[in-house]
Amino acid sequence: MADALVIGAGVIGLTSAICLAESGMEVRIRTAAPPQETTSRAASAMEEPAPRWAGWFPHGDHVVLGGCADEDDWRLEPDPVLAEEIVRRCAAIEPRLAEARVIEHRVGLRPARPDVRLEEVTLGPSRCVHNYGHGGTGVALAWGCARDVCSIVARA
Ligand SMILES: Cc1cc2nc3c(=O)[nH]c(=O)nc-3n(C[C@H](O)[C@H](O)[C@H](O)COP(=O)(O)OP(=O)(O)OC[C@H]3O[C@@H](n4cnc5c(N)ncnc54)[C@H](O)[C@@H]3O)c2cc1C
Repeated sequence: MADALVIGAGVIGLTSAICLAESGMEVRIRTAAPPQETTSRAASAMEEPAPRWAGWFPHGDHVVLGGCADEDDWRLEPDPVLAEEIVRRCAAIEPRLAEARVIEHRVGLRPARPDVRLEEVTLGPSRCVHNYGHGGTGVALAWGCARDVCSIVARA
């Protein structure tokens, strides 16, 4: 396979003007009877200006609650009001979550872009393959994009 540099620097390494972050906050909770199933749907019954999504993801001894993804939002500090809102939205769908004990707030940036950038460019004498901008689906898309990167690199 030919040598090539693959750039997948996520949101930290991006300087392109068409890349935007979407701040995402997670609330980690513990509860006596955690739901074993994952769900994600709009909790449109809540008093919000617009329907917002709510989802939870069982992770062994705790459950991760999520519910925000706003475009061009670079905040990295947990927002306690939003955290309460996320718990409220999730509990509106799954009442067992209402009694949960919050153990941690976490914030991360989704490296968003109108389209994933997956292409080869030449940097001086070097081959370079860009692979970034997967937004909120980078884990799901990782296998397919990695396979595409390998195909590009394998081309002579
Ligand atoms: C709250 C939240 C929930 C999410 N939920 C999901 C989900 O349910 N399903 C899903 O598919 N995706 C989800 N995502 C999105 C997913 O996490 C991202 O799309 C994915 O992590 C992006 O991968 P990446 O490798 O492009 O970037 P990153 O994971 O950010 O990795 C980039 C790496 O490059 C390094 N780096 C940056 N600059 C340099 C440099 N100059 N030199 C060397 N290294 C550098 C960074 O330190 C980092 O380790 C979620 C994201 C957030 C924030």
